[in-house]
Amino acid sequence: MPAEYCERMRAIEVARFGGPEVLTLVDLPAPEPGPGQLLVRTDAVGINFIDTYFRTGLYPRELPYVPGTEGTGRVVAVGEGVADVGVGDRVSWASADGSYAEQVLVPAAVAVPVPDPVPAEQAASALLQGMTAHYLLNSTYPAQPGETVLVHAGAGGVGLLLTQLAAAKDVRVITTVSTDEKETLSREAGAAEVLRYTDDLAERVRDLTGGEGVAAVYDGVGAATFESSLASLRIRGTLALFGAASGPVPPFDLQRLNPAGSLYVTRPTLAHHVRTREELMWRAGDVFAAVADGTLTVRVGARYPLAQAEQAHRDLEARRTTGSIVLVP
Ligand code: NDP
Repeated sequence: MPAEYCERMRAIEVARFGGPEVLTLVDLPAPEPGPGQLLVRTDAVGINFIDTYFRTGLYPRELPYVPGTEGTGRVVAVGEGVADVGVGDRVSWASADGSYAEQVLVPAAVAVPVPDPVPAEQAASALLQGMTAHYLLNSTYPAQPGETVLVHAGAGGVGLLLTQLAAAKDVRVITTVSTDEKETLSREAGAAEVLRYTDDLAERVRDLTGGEGVAAVYDGVGAATFESSLASLRIRGTLALFGAASGPVPPFDLQRLNPAGSLYVTRPTLAHHVRTREELMWRAGDVFAAVADGTLTVRVGARYPLAQAEQAHRDLEARRTTGSIVLVP
């Protein structure tokens, strides 16, 4: 084994569902890469809102587990049958369980080579949120130049990336944010109009669209915004409900979509948009190429030592973070 491989490693473990306090630093034996797997020493780990859904038990899973699905690092060992990745290579991934750790088992099928100019913190946090923005904008509702869309949580991880990608396509972006600082960031990312989550939000959106409403709403906030998202759509508009930062949306009567304007509602997820290696490399390649050439900025709003994963979750859930956030082991 090369020098960087360590037989033991620090990791975060969740042994019971609950608040951020259940994120516990532990010392574990390093896992062994099986067939088709890489063992990667992490340089940085991406923290995503979905990590909080698993931690609370909203999304069920077996206990105990090491949280996190995203990161970047250098390969320290390869399992049987791995052909095109070698020890020392830099890779990133968006879907390898157990990423809040100094060493992570990554299926070679989901490992993506990192272009040299992309620094570790950006490489750790660009893929999951960037590929989400990519599929929302290119596959779920492919917004056209000149159309107007609404992006909730415009200064969040997905929000800043989605706004930049949409603005680059000459799509007019209206966002929502909760603070003045977030408004500034959202405008810098290319938002044409930035609103607060007020009761008359849909009215404001209609005023900004000549009474028509927007072609699509990309809504990762969920319970708190769902009704105003629907009310903000134009006839035959699309609501892409891709998350639940404020809580899950309650059951919904489909019949309401008819008088509201023959609306479309979908609840997409990244895993269904990177099902083949080809599709993964298309989206990841686009994201990393744009980050490498400077046309897409990944704002890392905060970084935390691995041992402070608890604080990172507290900040994320309290809406204190902007852009992407990472753990640095
Ligand atoms: P963000 O960085 O966007 O953080 C969440 C943001 O949501 C907050 O900063 C806050 O911004 C806003 N928010 C509004 N209401 C609340 C609330 N009650 N509690 C907490 N936050 C709130 O997180 P991510 O970029 O990691 O994820 C954004 C959303 O996208 C999440 O719902 C996540 O689950 C989803 N997602 C879905 C994917 C998919 O494929 N379906 C993949 C990736 C992410 P503000 O203060 O401005 O309101």
